[in-house]
Amino acid sequence: MAPKKEGGLGVGDAVIRNTALLFKWWWRFSREDCPLWKKVVCSCANMDPAVMIRDQPVPTRGGPWKDICQLQVCEPRLREKMISGLSMELGNGRTIRFWEDSWLPNGALKDKFPRLFSVSNLHGAVVGDCGFWDGLEWIWSFQWRRELFQWELDLVRQLHETLQLAKPTNEREDTVIWKFDKTGAYSMNSFVQTMQVEVLPDEITSYSFTRAIWKGLVPPRIELLSWFVLVGRVNTKDRLCRLRVLDQNDRLCVLCSKAEETVFHLFLGCDITWQVWCAWLHAFGRSWCSPGTLKAHFESWTNMAVWKVERKRWFIGFSAIVWTIWIERNGRLFRNKASTLREIVNKSFASAEEWIGGEPFGC
Ligand SMILES: [Zn+2]
Repeated sequence: MAPKKEGGLGVGDAVIRNTALLFKWWWRFSREDCPLWKKVVCSCANMDPAVMIRDQPVPTRGGPWKDICQLQVCEPRLREKMISGLSMELGNGRTIRFWEDSWLPNGALKDKFPRLFSVSNLHGAVVGDCGFWDGLEWIWSFQWRRELFQWELDLVRQLHETLQLAKPTNEREDTVIWKFDKTGAYSMNSFVQTMQVEVLPDEITSYSFTRAIWKGLVPPRIELLSWFVLVGRVNTKDRLCRLRVLDQNDRLCVLCSKAEETVFHLFLGCDITWQVWCAWLHAFGRSWCSPGTLKAHFESWTNMAVWKVERKRWFIGFSAIVWTIWIERNGRLFRNKASTLREIVNKSFASAEEWIGGEPFGC
């Protein structure tokens, strides 16, 4: 689920959390020089301790290490994103391989300049071996298997351009950083956050306005209900019929008995609910035109006021009405207990008062 600030529910996705644990081993493999565990893994899985996991073949033998290397996630895009988070930072150029490693922003040079790579004599060479210091200036120097054609020389010129800002420094060693955390170190939290944003369903991103909900202005269970209402995920009768929880013929709204109970109908379109919204607007001398969707309704309702404090109150009012309608609907459906329109309106005002901590709107 999407984090709250992205408009989601803020509940961690178990798959992402699990992958974050597995991915920690990718981080440790690339950062730790050669501790015992790494020696064992490399000898059992036939891996090169100096090369990042992404550039090594997946071990053929099963077991946990194979799972770690495979990093099975349903979307390849997500896998790419994770792996791209481990980026190499050039220090003295003693461990980063010039052609094969991704140490420049746009991936490995062998992929960017395949032709030059194919004629290079420096396969596997580290960055520090692909040039020399001339005083304070670093001079790149390449060796080719044969004389280059004119058009290949153009490529060499492009390669030099790509390398313009890159040069080794003797002040520090090459290192691997996790670029999704500002400290550069891997953390579960930064992993989960980055990946959650990647997997936000369209439904949530198109409802990004729902981030306005998680402000702690009303109790969490009320925030949750408002969120479900706005993304259309409340278990109204139409949904329960679709899920075959309810009898196919039991679809009518319990408030008005006139139309099918959908999220839109129950919380906006229903005659009863409509009158509750109108009663609020009437009480504060406002008028409105009928919004076509709950989203439009929420936006116009919460943007009605100019002042922030007043907007908060309209938001609380919105939550109070949605909550009262839901309670009323459940009372009628499960306890056969119905309130009058006046009682419903009063209850919604009472809830809002309670959450505001006084008279709504100071009136
Ligand atoms: Zn109705």
